[in-house]
Amino acid sequence: METYKMFIGGKWVESSENQVLKVLNPSTGLPVASVQSASRDDVRKAINAARNSFASGIWSRATPGDRSNVLLKVAELIEKNQDKFIKVETENSGKSIKQISGYDIPYTIDNIRFLAGACRTLEGKAMNEYVADGTSAIRREPIGAIGIITPWNYPLMMVVWRAFPALAMGNSVVVKPASYTPLTTLMLADIMKEAGVPDGVFNVITGPGSSVGEEMAKSEKLDMIAFTGSTEVGKRLSVLAASNLKKVSLELGGKAPFIVFKDANIDAAVESAIVGGLVNNGQDCANSTRYYIQEEVFDKFVSLLKNRIQKLRIGDPMDPATDMGPLISETQRERVEGYIEKGIQEGGKLLSGGERPEIPGHEKGYYINPALIYTENEDSAIVKEEIFGPVFTILKFKDYNDAISRSNDVTYGLGSSVWTSDITTAMRATRDLRFGTVWVNEHVVVPSEMPWAGYKESGHGASLSPYSLEEFTYIKHVYFDLTGKVRKDWYDQIFKG
Ligand code: NAD
Repeated sequence: METYKMFIGGKWVESSENQVLKVLNPSTGLPVASVQSASRDDVRKAINAARNSFASGIWSRATPGDRSNVLLKVAELIEKNQDKFIKVETENSGKSIKQISGYDIPYTIDNIRFLAGACRTLEGKAMNEYVADGTSAIRREPIGAIGIITPWNYPLMMVVWRAFPALAMGNSVVVKPASYTPLTTLMLADIMKEAGVPDGVFNVITGPGSSVGEEMAKSEKLDMIAFTGSTEVGKRLSVLAASNLKKVSLELGGKAPFIVFKDANIDAAVESAIVGGLVNNGQDCANSTRYYIQEEVFDKFVSLLKNRIQKLRIGDPMDPATDMGPLISETQRERVEGYIEKGIQEGGKLLSGGERPEIPGHEKGYYINPALIYTENEDSAIVKEEIFGPVFTILKFKDYNDAISRSNDVTYGLGSSVWTSDITTAMRATRDLRFGTVWVNEHVVVPSEMPWAGYKESGHGASLSPYSLEEFTYIKHVYFDLTGKVRKDWYDQIFKG
C-alpha cells in the first residue's frame, strides 16, 4: 500500500507531526493508500511557498502564451498517463470505470485544454476617453496566493475546475483535496512539475477539513479561497475568510428539479432521468433529484422509470459492465438511508429500491439500490434538502405555474431541466427558473465553454468558461492624462485659485 507525501514548494514532504490518514476503497471498505495529515506548520509552509512564488513573478508575470503551453503539456501528460489516473480514481471514489474512463478523465482533459487556450484571449474593453483628454483602460491581474478546497465527488475534475483558471491567470495555489479522495490530486502534482509549472506555484496539502481547511480559510496570508463543497461548510468558510476579507468563491450544493410536461417525449425524459439522477452514483451537485411530472403523463413516466432502473447493473466499479458502484462512505450511505426513512415518515410512498444489495466479494462496500419515492408533501426533507445519493423524489403537478413555483421554492439554485415539445413553454421556463443552468430536453451537460454557477445558496462565482478566468483576477482601472497641463481646467470645480 502506497504512502503519498504532500507537495510543497516543488518538493515531496511528510507531515511535520508524522500523522497519516488511511484512504479507503468504497467498494470494499479496505485501505488503498495512506496520505499525510498536514500540521498547522505544514499549512503555513505551503501558503508561504505559494506567496513567494507569486511575488517572484516567475509564473504571475509569464505571458498567457507561456502559461498556456505549460497547461497544455499538463493535459497531454494526463492523457499519456490516463490508465493510471482511471484506475486510481475508480478504486478511490467507487464510481464505475465506465464513467471515469468515458467521461470524467477525457472531459477533465478537455476542461484544461479550454482554460489553457482561453487565458490567451482575455482582453480589456477598448481604451477610451470617458473624460476629455484622459484615456482609461482596464487591466486584469492575478490575485495572489489562493487556497483551493475540493470535494470528493469528482476528485481530479474539481481541482481542475478551481485551480486551473487560477493558474491560467497567473496565481499560485495551495490545494487541499477531500480526505476521502486525495490520490489523483497528489498524482497531478508530479505531472505539474514535469510539465514545467515552477516550484511553489502548485502545492498540495492533505488532511481533515476541520483543521487543515479551516486553517486555510482563516489564514491572513491567503488572498482568496475557492471552495467547492457543501453549502453548510461554504457558510462556515465565508465567516472564517472574513479574517482578512479575502475573496471567496463558492460552488455549493444543489437540488435540481426535472420538470416533465405532458407534451414531452417521455421515453427521452426517462433515459435522461437515469443519467441525471444516477451519474456519479447519485452524488453530483447537478443530479436531478425532484421529478415534477404533469399529472396526465405521471403513471407512464413512473412505470417506465421503474423498469429502466431495474435493468441497471450495480456492482464492482472496476468491472467495465458496471453502471453504478457504491457511495463514498458508510456515513454517506447512512445519511441517504436516513433521508429515505424520513421521506416515508413524512408521507412519502417508497415505490422501489432503497435496500442494500448483496455484491459478492464486496460485502463491506457502501452499496445501496436507487430508491424511488412518490410524495405529495412539498415540505418533506426529501423535497427541500440535498440528499446526495441515488434517491428519485417524484411529485405530480397540474400546470405551468404550479411546476415553476414549486421548482423554485428551495434554497438552492444550481441545475434544472424542463421537458417539453412546446417552444413557448421551454422559453418561458428558461426565463422563470431561478437556477444557474436550465437544460431543455436534457440534463447534466456542461461544455467547457459555458459557465457552471449557482444562484442563492448554491454559491457564487463560476467554474469553466471565460467567466471562471475573470473570477481569479482583480480588475484595475488605469488612467492616462493627455493634457500635460500643470493645472487642469476641472480643478476649478473644486478649488479655485
Ligand atoms: P464538504 O463540504 O463536506 O467538503 C468539501 C471540502 O471541504 C473537503 O475538502 C473537506 O475536507 C473540506 N472541509 C470540510 N469541513 C471544512 C471546514 N470546516 N473548513 C474548511 N474545509 C472544510 O463537501 P463534500 O461532502 O466533500 O462534497 C459534496 C458537496 O459538494 C455537495 O453538497 C455537492 O453538491 C457539492 N458540490 C458542488 C459542486 C458545484 O459545482 N457547485 C460540485 C461538486 C460538489
